[in-house]
Amino acid sequence: MDQISTRLSPPEAPREFGFFMNGAWVPAGDRELFDRQSPAHGVPVTRVPKCTVEDLDAAVDAARRAFDDRRWSGLNGQARAAVLLRTGALIRERADEIAYFETLENGKPISQARAEVLGCADMFEYASGLARSLHGDSFNNLGDGLFGLVTREPVGVVGLITPWNFPFLILCERVPYILASGCTIVAKPSEVTSATTLILAEILSDAGLPDGCMNVVTGAGSSIGQALIEHPRVDMLSFTGSTAVGRRVVEAAGKSNFKKLGLELGGKNPQIVFADADLEDAADGVAFGIGFNTGQCCVSGSRLIVERSVADDFARMVQAKFDKVRVGDPLDEATQIGAITTEAQNATIMSYIERGQAEGARLICGGAQLDMGRGQFIVPTLFGDVTRDMSIAREEIFGPVLTIMPFDTIEEAIEIANDTDYGLAASVWTKNIDKALTVTRQVQAGRFWVNTTLAGGPELPLGGFRQSGWGREAGIYGVEEYTQVKSVHIEIGKRDHWVK
Ligand code: NDP
Repeated sequence: MDQISTRLSPPEAPREFGFFMNGAWVPAGDRELFDRQSPAHGVPVTRVPKCTVEDLDAAVDAARRAFDDRRWSGLNGQARAAVLLRTGALIRERADEIAYFETLENGKPISQARAEVLGCADMFEYASGLARSLHGDSFNNLGDGLFGLVTREPVGVVGLITPWNFPFLILCERVPYILASGCTIVAKPSEVTSATTLILAEILSDAGLPDGCMNVVTGAGSSIGQALIEHPRVDMLSFTGSTAVGRRVVEAAGKSNFKKLGLELGGKNPQIVFADADLEDAADGVAFGIGFNTGQCCVSGSRLIVERSVADDFARMVQAKFDKVRVGDPLDEATQIGAITTEAQNATIMSYIERGQAEGARLICGGAQLDMGRGQFIVPTLFGDVTRDMSIAREEIFGPVLTIMPFDTIEEAIEIANDTDYGLAASVWTKNIDKALTVTRQVQAGRFWVNTTLAGGPELPLGGFRQSGWGREAGIYGVEEYTQVKSVHIEIGKRDHWVK
């Protein structure tokens, strides 16, 4: 697409894609097709093929050949960095197009999609430096007869399964780092949001990535995704999605080739607010933390834990923010909360809202769908009188639904925050440094925010404690994740013989 009008509207006909393998588009041919409807507009916006297991095998073969003949891993860091830098530049050039399809398929506001895409270009640019600086270690303290080296080598072919909530962002929190390490990729995006992953494959190829290093197969998770996690010629699998499917990934790795795994799964993330916080800032941050991406973030701050002395006032402040937030057509530049991405997710969120009321929680505000005449929208929702055993306080809802629970002491706040199976992210709001540091040290979470939330950059790693997952993405940690460590022992001089 060359140009997008400044007054955006859905396309008149869906854009048709093939899938991408060995450096080229493969037309859909006579494969079954999947038509994606915009969750905000109810019209078809993209069409992708349902790849077969044979297609997946061919894509894995292409990635395997590209890895084994060292056409990518054998290049020096400078050459790999050059491709990643060019990719960043091409993403910037095509940012409007990528953001448009991200919004059409996912339902997120166009202004947000555009910001995410530019952040993704930045990730490629940052990772280019890591391709050059990745290094091992040496041991010069093993005596005069021995020298030790520790080298990092790329793991091999990486299967990459990404979800529908941040189709491009989550992809780009992984792909540049995987490529910086020297690995090759077979990606399987969520079937409902495949377009921008396919566009990235084309961009990488245009940027000079050798053929076979980035392949994208499209289709449903239950068929093509399952075949990828079981694939014996895939060396590592990076999965982002539900804890339920994460469990299947672990089982499949055990039953096939014990592939290395990276898992980013669910979260039920606490936002702890002390009475001494800047409550205006905290209310805005809390509203953002659950409203951003309609609460469909693994790191959404969905459990509000507030010091009792300010709890009622703070609930009113959050409600005031919710009342003002602009929910609507995601193609409108002014929209802050767009559509719920899938009908199934919409039904899940509404069922949790019903369950919360049935379990005795008090609906403070929201709780309803917004009738826009088409598409699926849910207004931000706040529940009070929530107890820790309620499903809305324990389970990941993945929607704009916030529960509020009071606390009296810092120990109680930490205890409530840790009373979860998950450990992905947490935020604390206070002007007291001792409280901030105590909470940061004692709450179990892979990402922590102090007096802010959902902030970040490509330098900082992502990942979870407990059932939120294994491993880390992004930063130097994200590159190292896709490497194996090898120790090399080098004898110096004449060997002291074992058999004399
Ligand atoms: P899934 O875990 O089913 O989907 C995530 C990815 O896994 C998608 O690409 C999906 O493909 C794929 N997938 C599905 N089944 C398999 C399988 N058997 N083998 C391999 N891959 C598979 O999430 P849902 O879409 O069902 O969402 C359900 C819940 O998961 C949400 O309500 C939310 O709580 C959580 N979730 C968490 C995310 C996170 O970022 N941590 C992201 C998304 C969801 P496809 O979509 O084509 O089926």
